[in-house]
Amino acid sequence: MLVELMREPVALGIILFVFGLITGSFLNVCIHRIPRGTSLVSPASQCACGQKIPWRLNIPVLSWLLLGGKAACCGRSIPSRYLAVELLTGALFVFAGFHFQSQEPYFLFLSVNLVFISILLCSTFIDLEHMIIPDRLSVGGAFVGLILAFAFPALSGWWDDALLARMASLTSAILGLLVGSGTLYWVGIMAETVLRREAIGQGDVKLLGCVGAFCGWKGALFSIFGGALVGTSLLLPIVLLRSRSQTASAENNNSDRGETIGWGVEVPFGPFLALAALLYQLGLDRYVDQYFEQLGNLLRLAWNNAGFTGSFW
Ligand SMILES: [Zn+2]
Repeated sequence: MLVELMREPVALGIILFVFGLITGSFLNVCIHRIPRGTSLVSPASQCACGQKIPWRLNIPVLSWLLLGGKAACCGRSIPSRYLAVELLTGALFVFAGFHFQSQEPYFLFLSVNLVFISILLCSTFIDLEHMIIPDRLSVGGAFVGLILAFAFPALSGWWDDALLARMASLTSAILGLLVGSGTLYWVGIMAETVLRREAIGQGDVKLLGCVGAFCGWKGALFSIFGGALVGTSLLLPIVLLRSRSQTASAENNNSDRGETIGWGVEVPFGPFLALAALLYQLGLDRYVDQYFEQLGNLLRLAWNNAGFTGSFW
């Protein structure tokens, strides 16, 4: 019945949006509890004041809007992050639902990617709030990616359930994990040598391993450089503006209480990595893969021109 209904575009959109809102509501619990190391299932949803939240005040988006962003028990304001995560998850689930329609088998691609989107969203918002990416998400996510690759070789284009196809699928996931985390690790080491301070955290390296296990090595490499590009283009104007206003306030002789902003500012890299991974997985993969293919052709040509025969790639 549900499968029949999901062939109807409007129904598909509504089902995925509602499912996304519910998942987003659960992700909010994860974002709050995973960094604190508490259980995800018990106790039931609680307000910051300790009161239990009844189910009718815990409906995604609606409750927040009806309550005007204030807790019913004590009037504390509920962070708008709760609303944002729910809506974002809903929107991404709908987008993924339509994007993967061209992929066969549809439900496999869709559900695997909904899991991937959830891991990325959770990591992003925890990193924004706490400047960490918990191992439960990054390392746990990498394990999930490897297991899925072995269980469903169709994910990497193998229309076969034989052990050989499974091993090939697993190998490409492992390759993605190693290339992703290995490259980011070395980018971090080199940046550290030049900048003389930690540039890339362990959490980012582990998250990239997870991205590689789901997207393959091309997606992992794109996430690093795409993430750096998006991060720089978004942050550069902010940093420049801030350092300008800092100079201005220094000229006004009240710079003593100024915080350290400007080039020394610490920004989590995880959200940008996650954003680039999402962009790759939800549509840029075609172009990125094509680019890597052309690069491979050029290298092959150079290899042959250098007098070597046979294929290296
Ligand atoms: Zn309360």
